[in-house]
Amino acid sequence: MHNAYFNFAEPTNEPVLSYAPGSPEAISLKAAIAEAKSQVKDIPMYINGQEVRSGNTVEIRPPHETAHLLGHFHKSDESHVHSAIAAALAAREAWSEMAWEHRAAIFLKAADLLATRYRYKMNAATMLGQSKNAFQAEIDSACELIDFLRFNVHFLTGIYNQQPLSPAGVHNRMEYRPLEGFVLAVTPFNFTAIGGNLPTSAAMCGNVVVWKPANTQVYSASVFMEILLEAGLPAGVINLIYPSGPMVGDICYQHPDFAGVHFTGSTGVFQSMWKSIGENISRYKTYPRIVGETGGKDFVFVHPSADVDAVVAGLLRGAFEYQGQKCSAASRAYLPSNLAEAIKSKLLAEMKTLKMGVVDDFSNFVNAVIDEKSFDSLARYIDGVKNSNGQAKIIAGGGYDKTKGWFIEPTVIEAADPKYVTMCEELFGPVLTIHVYDAAQWEAALDVVDTTSPYALTGAVFAQDRYAIELMTKKLVNAAGNFYINDKPTGAVVGQQPFGGARASGTNDKAGSVLNLYRWLSARTVKETLVSPKDYRYPFHS
Ligand code: NAD
Repeated sequence: MHNAYFNFAEPTNEPVLSYAPGSPEAISLKAAIAEAKSQVKDIPMYINGQEVRSGNTVEIRPPHETAHLLGHFHKSDESHVHSAIAAALAAREAWSEMAWEHRAAIFLKAADLLATRYRYKMNAATMLGQSKNAFQAEIDSACELIDFLRFNVHFLTGIYNQQPLSPAGVHNRMEYRPLEGFVLAVTPFNFTAIGGNLPTSAAMCGNVVVWKPANTQVYSASVFMEILLEAGLPAGVINLIYPSGPMVGDICYQHPDFAGVHFTGSTGVFQSMWKSIGENISRYKTYPRIVGETGGKDFVFVHPSADVDAVVAGLLRGAFEYQGQKCSAASRAYLPSNLAEAIKSKLLAEMKTLKMGVVDDFSNFVNAVIDEKSFDSLARYIDGVKNSNGQAKIIAGGGYDKTKGWFIEPTVIEAADPKYVTMCEELFGPVLTIHVYDAAQWEAALDVVDTTSPYALTGAVFAQDRYAIELMTKKLVNAAGNFYINDKPTGAVVGQQPFGGARASGTNDKAGSVLNLYRWLSARTVKETLVSPKDYRYPFHS
């Protein structure tokens, strides 16, 4: 700070626009979709603030309309990974020394650009590239990303203000330095906001970043990079490249200046990263920070006292919004025998009203899954139920069709065995498995919930009985990093429900909270003695 302490007040959450038929936002968004579809976009890498093209291009097509070509991106090879690291390290000194109010202004400007001029372009890119409906894009690529940027500026200001005690004669202070080296951000396909948050939260703290998004999110990631550059992000601070995951890992984890990885994605990839980093540990100048939010097998536990309609709404939204491709999506539900028939019949009736199709038609609730690999994997699980010899049965949906896009029908499986494969493994699609338990044994059923999967990301309980709610909250204390009472397990909001899970679901560093920002800082404590002693002897010596 120079000659003043600057305050960045707590923001409010960005309001979610409705996109109701005929609303100004619906008209603007449809125009942005039409404009995006009228072009074939050529998407470069961004290294040292420059557009870089390798000529080795990969096509981008909407998952719900695979006949349409949206654009292509330029794949990175090893030389681009090395250039991105070099550009980041070259930018480090100037960036890490820039006064906080100037760094902060860049991210606040990016938030304002996204909230205004870029809102529809960004939402259109997310809808087309990742197959989200208008509402799912709005809460992700507009509101959540805007919130991440504004709230993190506020949280970091709070950290910088935390200073130690200074008794008489001494001035103590803490400097929150960025890490010594570069940070690698590796981001998943399913949230544009996570793609934007992982590199910017580290950069905001004064770090320099190499950002590698999932191939299936490059289309919207590149729009965010345009925003950052327009907001004034200096060259080299965030370098956006498109190598394969193993390639970026191999190069970064062997680099002596590798200072940390900010990852969101699957558990298997994160565990392999951690292992490689461990194998290279003696190479680094500083112990790298390893932050990862990973998979989930998120539960809904229904107590015998639950409100049936609330459960049905929670399951429909929790399991099928964005085709179940949220790390927090409800994918296993435990229904008590006294309510199971009522819940199932209402759920199945409502599922008949869920419309599936392209994102351009705003009346569709469900769109396509992200790619052929995901489609094939989900189809295999569905076929597995059909061949399960009665261990499980499909009670709704079960269809799939890849002729026009990667469409998996919203599906409910009923499993007699609470450890049936689809009750345990993360499927990442619009497939919910339910198990009916004996209502008289509901406490014992909680042990099954707690021990069925290695994950602990999100979970929800539904009940009216307050003693039961209290007991479930205690017994499931380690089963979820985000725990919901009488609500769906999805839809965490920045500043309201800091997000992250434990066990195999991640390091639980809570994206969009002060806890996450601490991971990108390395504090230096400075003690200054105002009048130094001039004699080594203490008073008791004389
Ligand atoms: P993914 O693990 O397949 O890919 C994530 C990123 O890792 C991508 O950029 C990918 O290219 C990269 N990658 C792949 N192999 C790599 C390797 N060997 N080394 C380095 N990078 C590599 O995940 P996805 O399919 O993009 O996303 C879905 C997964 O993400 C699900 O498991 C979901 O639960 C999880 N997720 C978790 C959270 C959370 O907050 N816990 C949020 C969103 C998604």
